[in-house]
Amino acid sequence: MNRKAKIVATIGPASSDEGIMEQLLLAGVNVARMNFSHGTHAQHAQRISSLRAVAKRLNLSIAILQDLQGPKIRVGELSAPVQLSEGEIIYLFATGTDEPEGDGKKIPVDFRELFASVQNSDRLLLDDGRLTLEVISTNKNLALTARVLVGGPLSSHKGINLPGVRLRIDGFTSKDEADLAFGLTQNVDAVAISFVRSADDVLKVKTAIRRLNKNGRSPLLIAKLEKPEAITELERILDLVDGVMVARGDLGVELPPERVPALQKHIIRAANARAKLVITATQMLESMIQNPLPTRAEASDVANAIFDGTDAVMLSAESASGKYPVQAVQMMDRIICEAESHFLEWGQEQTMLSYTTDDAASMARAAQVLANDTNVTAVAVFTMQGQSAWMMSKVRPRVPILAFTPEDSTYSRLAMFWGVKPQRVPYVNSLEEMIKFVDDALMEGGSLKEGDQVVMVCGFPVGALRSPNMALLHTIGSDQAVKLTIK
Ligand code: PEP
Repeated sequence: MNRKAKIVATIGPASSDEGIMEQLLLAGVNVARMNFSHGTHAQHAQRISSLRAVAKRLNLSIAILQDLQGPKIRVGELSAPVQLSEGEIIYLFATGTDEPEGDGKKIPVDFRELFASVQNSDRLLLDDGRLTLEVISTNKNLALTARVLVGGPLSSHKGINLPGVRLRIDGFTSKDEADLAFGLTQNVDAVAISFVRSADDVLKVKTAIRRLNKNGRSPLLIAKLEKPEAITELERILDLVDGVMVARGDLGVELPPERVPALQKHIIRAANARAKLVITATQMLESMIQNPLPTRAEASDVANAIFDGTDAVMLSAESASGKYPVQAVQMMDRIICEAESHFLEWGQEQTMLSYTTDDAASMARAAQVLANDTNVTAVAVFTMQGQSAWMMSKVRPRVPILAFTPEDSTYSRLAMFWGVKPQRVPYVNSLEEMIKFVDDALMEGGSLKEGDQVVMVCGFPVGALRSPNMALLHTIGSDQAVKLTIK
């Protein structure tokens, strides 16, 4: 499979069976997203362990992304869906408190801080903005009265957004903390923080990871960009995280939807400039929740995210609870491959800011120049922590990046990086051994011709576990390697 951009698939009831997981991995899922807005720890643990077992059996690398719920406000449990009509007066009250007096419908809300934060005339958007309420009065007893401005059906657990309202709450909730502690025991590869508003929100999670993570490696940290405040503070946030998600679902409710396309391009460019990961998410193949084929607009949307330069694209309900989870992944794979074959015509070139000058980044830049030579069929990196594969990925070479590692945690993490094909190898301590692994991997891939070359990037002396400082131009099948750069 020569696809470069990665596929993130949310795992849920439609994808929890091991047989389906196997089909999803074979169809090309690289990252499994566990959405902690739903499900119990026991369910997530079972899914993580099944995915890892299936990946091991298939000799594939899968990264686990834990998505924390964050301060997401949701409708509580309704005994049955209700229909809200324009002009109707309804009551919202905090789950676990007494229903307010009055004749209208009573809607429980799972988030007490809502009642402390809203004022008369504020607007509440329900179910991804499909319904609108206007607050007409609040009281101190965790209840409020609202008028329905845009009506429709409402069922349990639908989200509530308050555009423009500053919630008087911590961005990192006690549920997030408990979920994060659980995720760390599962050695998740990455953690996504929802509803980030400021660099401070990110720092709180970083501190919690340091406190809670007693032994293991820290997961990559991804900030979900879905609040306007986060866009204003984008650069400070990018400096603190490993990556971002363009969380278009909530972003397009918190801000008018027409602002999402340009913001997507802005975020992708800013993330790539700082060598940070970027995932484009939500409603990419939405109609495939119900149908075996996407709309043409959805196919264009996935392709355009690729042209924008995203590292990964994401499926939510399509793979978590839709009717066609495997077909959605296969479709996404086909759209990406087709778009990538036209990248030179339509893709946005991305420029990494020159201040990214650690050894891994500067060696990646040197290797990228070599890799664009016509004979070069791949770049090979030997990496313990994954850093050199990550930087190589960010300079977007034309050819695949084979990333060799003896570290289990790196092997799974590498699945997240654009263009990277993770390869598990034993610990290597000579250049000759490295060359043999590269030759074997490329021979296995098949399509090689006599005289094909590969650019190898590693630390020298080999085995000293140092960051990359050497690039070699190696001709496949020959043991003669031309040393090119030693930094
Ligand atoms: C989004 O809002 O686009 C998103 C990815 O967040 P969630 O699915 O967790 O609501």
